[in-house]
Amino acid sequence: MQRGEIGESGVKVKSPYSVRYVVCVITLVDLNSLKKIVKETVEAKRPVLEDLARYLYENPELGSEEFKAFEKITKILDEHGFEMEKGVYDMPTAFIASYKGKSNGPRVAVLAEYDALPGVGHGCGHDLIAASAVGAGIAASKAIGDLAGEVLVIGTPAEEGHGPSGGSKVIMADHGLFDTVDGVVMLHPANTWGVGSQALGISKCNMVFKGQTSHAAASPHLGRNALNAATLAYTATHMLRQEARRDANLVIHGIITEGGTANNIIPDRAVLDMGVRSSDQEYLDEMVDKVARCGEGAAHALGVEVEITKGRLYSSKKLNYPMVRTLWQNYKDLGAPVDDWKKSVNNMPRASTDYGDVSQRTPVAGSNIGIAPEGTPGHSIQLADASVTKKGLDAMIVGTKALGMTLVELLAKPEILKEAKEFFDSN
Ligand SMILES: [Zn+2]
Ligand SMILES: [Zn+2]
Repeated sequence: MQRGEIGESGVKVKSPYSVRYVVCVITLVDLNSLKKIVKETVEAKRPVLEDLARYLYENPELGSEEFKAFEKITKILDEHGFEMEKGVYDMPTAFIASYKGKSNGPRVAVLAEYDALPGVGHGCGHDLIAASAVGAGIAASKAIGDLAGEVLVIGTPAEEGHGPSGGSKVIMADHGLFDTVDGVVMLHPANTWGVGSQALGISKCNMVFKGQTSHAAASPHLGRNALNAATLAYTATHMLRQEARRDANLVIHGIITEGGTANNIIPDRAVLDMGVRSSDQEYLDEMVDKVARCGEGAAHALGVEVEITKGRLYSSKKLNYPMVRTLWQNYKDLGAPVDDWKKSVNNMPRASTDYGDVSQRTPVAGSNIGIAPEGTPGHSIQLADASVTKKGLDAMIVGTKALGMTLVELLAKPEILKEAKEFFDSN
């Protein structure tokens, strides 16, 4: 089945109206009992999921090196009857686990992350992302026996960008994986609850300036100062802010990583490493070009050469309201203290994620679960520790249920996927 196509019953009938009515009633009845199966399965699997979260917390591994996590997670899914594809797209710690319903139909996915950070372990809470994805996938698998379609748990390593599998969702998106998936959900631990937040696209702009060394006092006139060019470029990029579109959440940040070897030598090499972010992908590309122009202009002014490497790291997140609304309602039904999704989708985006690249290919919904007191910084030991407290694990269980219920709902009510696809195509 092609993406976007909706499964049909194949039953020939004379009156489409009455059939639609019957299907609708059956769906309503079934959906509630299917969601009940999801909730009960998550409760039954709670020890497995908590054990997984604790194991990852105690064994943090950097991106592309999540071998212990990969072994543990894939073993659990394997034991629960998922068909496993391991090491996909030449990424040793990536996987696709799939569980089919009664016939072909839409494909819906939940994404797992399991990479940690240097120094702060699971300071981004990916231990809980993994546990929730595994739990949601298993719970959904128990409920879709009579439904058309397929549930996927996709293992996406190195979200923090470390190693050759860095930003694995971008690699998967570029290989077309998400073009074959009709809807994707996931969660991220945080210090507040919410569904449907934006994310900033991020691009890099790396500038290497090359000049000529010379004695800084005896023969400065024979030198060409690469550091001065880098400094001028750095200052020029700051001036771009004056003209920034205020609705596009532009962020420009950079550091000078090389700037000479001794103060009595005019530096012949300097490196300026810039990051540029925006919630508007097209505007981001435009601004990266402007940042690069600052480097070209500074090089010209100081008579040095410059090599500029530009590149997209992560795309901005394309929000999909039908998906967000569906996931939000499930959180709400579970009593989670989520803000109104219509408010969340307008909150200022703060971070970037490779989930943005998934959102540019297919309808997605993302959510935050509140595991730590408000004000707890992300990427911190405090957030890592919060992930294995009772509050953290309880929040993970609620999120797991909401994700699982949403996966099942999308298969039980393919009209939501149709609406999501239409929304995707027109935004
Ligand atoms: Zn992070
Ligand atoms: Zn993260």
